Amino acid sequence: DVLVVGSANADLTVRVERRPGAGETVLGTDLVESAGGKGANQAAAAARLGARTALLAKVGDDAFGTLLLDGQREAGTELRHVLVEKGARTGTAMIVVGPDGDNSIVVSPGANARLSPADVTAAREVVAASAVLSLQLEIPPATVRAAVAVAREAGTRVVLNPSPTPESLDPELLAAADPLVVNEHEAKQLSGLADGTPADRARALLGRGARSVVVTLGGEGALALAAGESEPTAVRGPQVRAVDTTGAGDAFTGALAGRLARGSSLVEAVRLAVRVGAASVTRPGAQPSYPTMDELPD
Ligand code: ADP
Repeated sequence: DVLVVGSANADLTVRVERRPGAGETVLGTDLVESAGGKGANQAAAAARLGARTALLAKVGDDAFGTLLLDGQREAGTELRHVLVEKGARTGTAMIVVGPDGDNSIVVSPGANARLSPADVTAAREVVAASAVLSLQLEIPPATVRAAVAVAREAGTRVVLNPSPTPESLDPELLAAADPLVVNEHEAKQLSGLADGTPADRARALLGRGARSVVVTLGGEGALALAAGESEPTAVRGPQVRAVDTTGAGDAFTGALAGRLARGSSLVEAVRLAVRVGAASVTRPGAQPSYPTMDELPD
C-alpha cells in the first residue's frame, strides 16, 4: 500500500496568451476550479492506477475542502486520514497557464500549514503498515521530518519529491529518499551543480546521501539512478502534445510510488511513471488529467 502525506489545494486556473509582468494586468479565460496540491495529486495518481492508496492531509471546512474530498473519493483513495479543520481555509493554488502549456503558480497554504507532527503520530500505524510513504514539501518541515522518522523506524520506503525546493535539503530527508524525485530545476538547485548534465546532477545527489535518484526531464522522460550505480538509466516517455503540464510531476511521482509499493524495480516503476506523466499533460488540470491503466499511451 501507499501512504501519501502532504498537501491538498484547490487549483484555480486561468489560461493566458501572455504572462503578466510586474505591475501589469492581462485578461485570461474563465476560471476553472479543480482538485490539486502535491500530496492530493500524488494520491489521486496512484489510486487511479489501481494502487491501494491512503492520504494524510488537512483541508478546511469550506467548499474547496469538499472539492478535494470529492476528487480523492472519485480516484479511489482511502479518505480516513484526510483531516477537516474547522474554521480553516483549504489551501489554494493560483495557476496561470501560458500558451505553451507551462504554468506559473502561487500557493496559499491554508490548512496545509496546520498538518502537524501530532497528526503524523496519530497515524503512525498507517505509516508502518504501508510499503511506501510518499512525501513532498508543501506541508510544515517538522511534519515531514516526523513522517520520515516513523517510516525509518517501521522500515517503510520513502519516496521524496523535495518541492517546493528549499535552498538546501535536510540531510536526514535526503538520506531517507529512495528515490529522491526531482525535476531538472530541482536537480540543479539541490545538487549545487550549475553546470553539468542531469546525469551529473543525479550522481551528485546520490553522492550527497540519497538512496536513489530520479530526475524527470519533461517531454524527454526521466533518468533513474539506483544505489551503487554510476550510470543512470534513461527512460523516454511517449511523444504527446502537451496542453497543460500542471501536476505532471505529481502524476509521475504518484505512479512511481504505487508501482514501487507493488515490488517493482526503480527502472520498471519509472517506465510506468513516464507514461502516466505524459498522459497527464494531454488533458487540462492536475487530478482531472490523471489516467487509469486503460488510458495510458504506449
Ligand atoms: P514537473 O512537472 O515537476 O516540472 P517535468 O516537467 O519533468 O516535472 O515532468 C514530469 C514528468 O511528466 C516527465 O518525466 C514526463 O513523464 C511527463 N511530462 C512532462 N511534460 C511532458 C511532455 N511535454 N511530454 C510528455 N511527457 C511529459
